Amino acid sequence: MLLPELEYIRPATVAEAIDALAAERNARVLAGGQTLLNALKLRIVHPAALVDVSRLEELRQVAEEPDGTLRLGAALTYDELAGNALVRERHAVTAAMTSRIVDRQVRARGTLGGNVCLGDPTSNFPPLLVALDARLVVQGPAGTREIAAEQFYLAPYMTALEPGELLTEVLLPPLADGEAVGYESLQVGIDSWALARASALVRVQSRDGNGSGTITAARVALGCGPVPVRQPAMEAALIGGPATRDAIAAAAKLAGEAFDPPADVHATAQYRTAMARVMARRAVISAATTKEA
Ligand SMILES: Cc1cc2nc3c(=O)[nH]c(=O)nc-3n(C[C@H](O)[C@H](O)[C@H](O)COP(=O)(O)OP(=O)(O)OC[C@H]3O[C@@H](n4cnc5c(N)ncnc54)[C@H](O)[C@@H]3O)c2cc1C
Repeated sequence: MLLPELEYIRPATVAEAIDALAAERNARVLAGGQTLLNALKLRIVHPAALVDVSRLEELRQVAEEPDGTLRLGAALTYDELAGNALVRERHAVTAAMTSRIVDRQVRARGTLGGNVCLGDPTSNFPPLLVALDARLVVQGPAGTREIAAEQFYLAPYMTALEPGELLTEVLLPPLADGEAVGYESLQVGIDSWALARASALVRVQSRDGNGSGTITAARVALGCGPVPVRQPAMEAALIGGPATRDAIAAAAKLAGEAFDPPADVHATAQYRTAMARVMARRAVISAATTKEA
């Protein structure tokens, strides 16, 4: 199906993009276009203009703050993100997860910002960013603000972005000593969407000679419900306990809080919740047994 007629704007700077979004209230940001162009062709969305940010160099940088925070530009493609040396060194799990998104074509065009702002419940990044306590930098007519990833998702395809706001960067805090990350998902097919995702950031201290130790911090997030959700009961059960498979498996039985997944032709809600518990267990085990942790 052909695209509807609309105005196409390619700003040269972020400031120009903000101005263009402010000038036309019914404008949409265009990034990789992997989802938006299909939505346009299907007449699901009806913007008057597209503001194409995909080539803005300002949004394609990876930089490190003095405290180790990584600033990831919103228009970085998955390929650029996965191949970046700084990301691979500081956030290896993020790089590895990104390098496995679907297929070469999607990784060449799809962007971090598009993935984050789409608000698709099944997307790869949302649970990871919640587990990492990432912050999202947005710019709009009222200036710049930061939103915690945990506060960003309001409902399926609905985010905390206000009209005219552009996501410019994703900030990943540095991993502290003893911290490591795990990420697991269950896909319908290898190149298809997911039924359940989980990501965990775990700090293990006082390791003994066998490599196990005590979990002193944990952030666990589930994805594929309406919005990504932290798992406070599982986190509380992990913290202070041993970093052993048995203890982690016991804590994972508490996962599923506020998950509320849909039931459809692919799986019942009960099955999705059961699989989310499995993904949460595996993500924490993976993080807790990472050598760097
Ligand atoms: C065949 C196929 C399979 C896929 N499988 C997966 C998968 O397994 N996992 C997964 O996570 N994704 C998957 N996707 C989705 C893909 O990753 C999309 O590219 C992504 O979700 C949207 O990114 P985009 O850069 O293409 O954004 P676009 O399609 O350009 O935009 C998506 C939405 O985000 C908004 N937006 C984009 N950038 C910004 C910004 N900087 N600030 C504010 N708003 C912005 C747009 O206005 C639009 O509403 C798949 C897509 C395809 C085509």
